[in-house]
Amino acid sequence: MNAVLNETVTEYTENYSVAHGEKPGVYVRTFGCQQNEADSETLAGIAESLGYRVTDDPSKAMLVIFNTCAVREHAELKALSVTGQLKHIKAANPEVIIAVCGCMVAQEHRLRTIKESYPYVDILFGTSAHSRFPDYIAEVLKNKNRVFSPDEVFEIEEGLPVKRESPFKAWVSIMYGCDNFCTYCVVPYVRGRERSRRREDILNEVRQLVSEGVKEITLLGQNVNSYGRKLYDDYDFADLLSDICKINGDYIIRFMTSHPKDATKKLVDVMALNSLPESRPHIARAFHLPLQSGSDMILNKMNRHYTTEKYLSFVTYLREMIPDISISTDIIVGFPTETEEDFAETLEMLKKVRFDAFFSFIYSVRPGTPAAKMPQISEDIKAERFSKMLTVQNSISLEKNEVYVGKTERVLVEGLSKTDGRMLTGRNDKNRLIHFEGDRALIGQFAYVEIIKADTYCLTGRLCAREAAE
Ligand code: SAM
Ligand code: SF4
Repeated sequence: MNAVLNETVTEYTENYSVAHGEKPGVYVRTFGCQQNEADSETLAGIAESLGYRVTDDPSKAMLVIFNTCAVREHAELKALSVTGQLKHIKAANPEVIIAVCGCMVAQEHRLRTIKESYPYVDILFGTSAHSRFPDYIAEVLKNKNRVFSPDEVFEIEEGLPVKRESPFKAWVSIMYGCDNFCTYCVVPYVRGRERSRRREDILNEVRQLVSEGVKEITLLGQNVNSYGRKLYDDYDFADLLSDICKINGDYIIRFMTSHPKDATKKLVDVMALNSLPESRPHIARAFHLPLQSGSDMILNKMNRHYTTEKYLSFVTYLREMIPDISISTDIIVGFPTETEEDFAETLEMLKKVRFDAFFSFIYSVRPGTPAAKMPQISEDIKAERFSKMLTVQNSISLEKNEVYVGKTERVLVEGLSKTDGRMLTGRNDKNRLIHFEGDRALIGQFAYVEIIKADTYCLTGRLCAREAAE
């Protein structure tokens, strides 16, 4: 990775370090999805290469960055409310530079609101052109100007420094933007048109991560199944996965998100070849395949370009080739015009597919999207359907988890349990959250755990000796 340089900023950070005996702090807070988390790691990496040090205490930072989300209104309101609290930080120390960026800021109306109503925010920029961030900081330091930079060009920027949160888990973006324009979704407006990174850049990054000992790599894209479409005639996501799996090392690969309209048998075949324990177990036996609705009528209004029949036939093939694959999904409840019949069809699909896990969302109106102009249904009905849906899926999830009791799972140990500091927590390749007692030296390693208890959202187990498990 290259360092990103800006003389004004490096001069400032050097002077600060001499005066205070330590580098100025940078605090980064992320709202929203994995892509935002990956972008935040780049922004932290850029700041670090300019002479800042990453801190998790905003009151000790001289540069505060909020990376925001716009997928649902709730996420925006939360980001705005937390941005409001930054006023105190600025009042306590006017030298602190405050930057707000990401999907929310990429919308003109939100940029205007923050510009006008939050005068203590110094820098506003969207989702791309991270390489210009040092110039924005320099403009504030040198000329005391505020900087407002809506995204104009969406380009791929290779070689920016990255400060990864975890030493053993890493995000690797393989593409950016989206061309699908699902009618409810703001992403194509705030992240621009779909563009893929060159395969050699991705392969080099993965190779580097594996050589550094990273154990889990998640490939990111809004629709990974259309990887390479605008770049290559005869190279697709399945080819990329296959090439990645040729890299030797003890690691697993995850990917998200797959759009059902572009999911191919070729992809499943590559997964089967590279995921089963007896072959080369690099690809996690987990598939996230957002269904969004079980009604073909609603899917059509969502502009999703598949039917429930097509979805089911893909799931059948997936389970045929990888019988113990874990399948998860996203469902939106209360999309405009959704009737009781449409909703009943969604419940039916949950029962037919029997997802291992799901992420459910109450439809949120996004200004500027086609669905915002469709006839809306009441918030009460949405909430009622949401809770019914949760009950149906929760009992399926529990039954699916109960199957693991008595089995031994290979788990990547991620850290201490958030609810019980004496327990470790990690995930198997099927993305099940597993708690167990063990030495914290295991964090960042693979361990073998015998499952003794199943709950709706997690499993509990006991550590086995590795030899006993194999
Ligand atoms: N590109 C991915 C995909 O197609 O699944 C992820 C996009 S989005 C960041 C993640 C999920 O948010 C979507 O799958 C969808 O279920 C949900 N979502 C998007 N827009 C929404 C909206 N307006 N209201 C509620 N949920 C929404
Ligand atoms: Fe949004 Fe659809 Fe693109 Fe996913 S595929 S980011 S839901 S427009």
